[in-house]
Amino acid sequence: MAYIEPAPIKDKENPLESMMSRFDAAVEILGISEEMYYILKVPARQVIVGLPVTMDNGKIKVFEGYRVIHSTILGPGKGGIRFDPAVNLDEVRALAAWMTWKCAVVDIPYGGAKGGIACNPREMSAGEMERLMRAYTISMLDIFGPDKDIPAPDMGTGPREMAWLMDEFSKAKGMTINGVVTGKPLVLGGSLGRTEATGRGVMVSALAGMDKLRLNPYRATAAVQGFGNVGSHAAQLLQEKGVTICGISDISGAYYNSRGIDIEKAIAYRNQNGGTLEGFKEADLISNEELLALNVDVLVPAAKEDVITDDNAGNIQAKLIIEGANGPTSASADKIINEKGIMVVPDILANAGGVTVSYFEWVQNRIGYKWTLDRINRRTDRIMKDSFDKVFETSQKYKVPMRLAAYIVAIDKVASTYKFRGGYG
Ligand code: GLU
Repeated sequence: MAYIEPAPIKDKENPLESMMSRFDAAVEILGISEEMYYILKVPARQVIVGLPVTMDNGKIKVFEGYRVIHSTILGPGKGGIRFDPAVNLDEVRALAAWMTWKCAVVDIPYGGAKGGIACNPREMSAGEMERLMRAYTISMLDIFGPDKDIPAPDMGTGPREMAWLMDEFSKAKGMTINGVVTGKPLVLGGSLGRTEATGRGVMVSALAGMDKLRLNPYRATAAVQGFGNVGSHAAQLLQEKGVTICGISDISGAYYNSRGIDIEKAIAYRNQNGGTLEGFKEADLISNEELLALNVDVLVPAAKEDVITDDNAGNIQAKLIIEGANGPTSASADKIINEKGIMVVPDILANAGGVTVSYFEWVQNRIGYKWTLDRINRRTDRIMKDSFDKVFETSQKYKVPMRLAAYIVAIDKVASTYKFRGGYG
């Protein structure tokens, strides 16, 4: 097959609908005008490109790539690039809007954007990935830029892909421009702490949530769904803070040990096992559904969208959900979770540590200087904690769950900024 058909857009509950239903609820509480509603709703720019790439077998395969800039009201577009066979325009639009709200919640000067390529990185060689990333970069030459739109890693991409993007963009422009992308390797102007930043923010959010629920980390248990960059670092950092991690999972299945799993060992195992936990012996193999329903205090969905739905939300026993992934809870599950009295620290707050350190990386690139890890961690922790407190206070003020409160904080910030900038009058 020379072409990966974009995944069909599901009728029921795609991420865009999940995002929009929360957006609509927050807009109603804030009493935003109809004009402002459409200003905030309609993406500023949506680009779809066809990318012909020569594969290792000498044949050309055409991939479809996307970049959506949802908003530039607070600053240049910002957001990752996802390599996944199921990527489609609707998903990228939802993820781009989430970036707008995320940057607004943590008060960093960026709008929101997201990119994606429908491809399967697990079936591609490094050379094929490199040619695909370089082709995508050239297609987006007029879109990307340190003051226009700044990509970063997301599912299926990491520092290696960001290095190719930075190199291709720099060559095309005839000069080194490292501020065009974040999440780069350290030698190319990447930032200390960027790799573990999202996991770190998840840990800070979890501790803040546990504090509100009077859960002592040394007596608390947790399950983490997803063992990629976000889940594995979140699990490791939570364990360092005393939390017992009873369950972890990845595409190979879920693993449970009531006495706790040694996360260092699990990471080491994954690293020498071709990147998966398959065959991990320190815990019992259970299903992903069982993992979500474990009798633990804290549940961290850190895999992908729509894993908690109205079908399984009723089985959740955790008291606190910290959303490491973007959009792991579908809108239909919100009501069930709220009725059960579970506290949710939503994605646009809980996983904002990544884009926060991306911002620090971009600042360092612009001033041509390197900060210490200590400075980065201290600043990230402060931003995450301050943002948590602001969202918590908003949830008390409006008597709404944390998710809606986070949308209220974000939408209010973007709408009031727009009023100062003004439109075409
Ligand atoms: N992909 C990450 C996210 O969803 C990071 C984005 C960035 O650093 O720009 O937040």
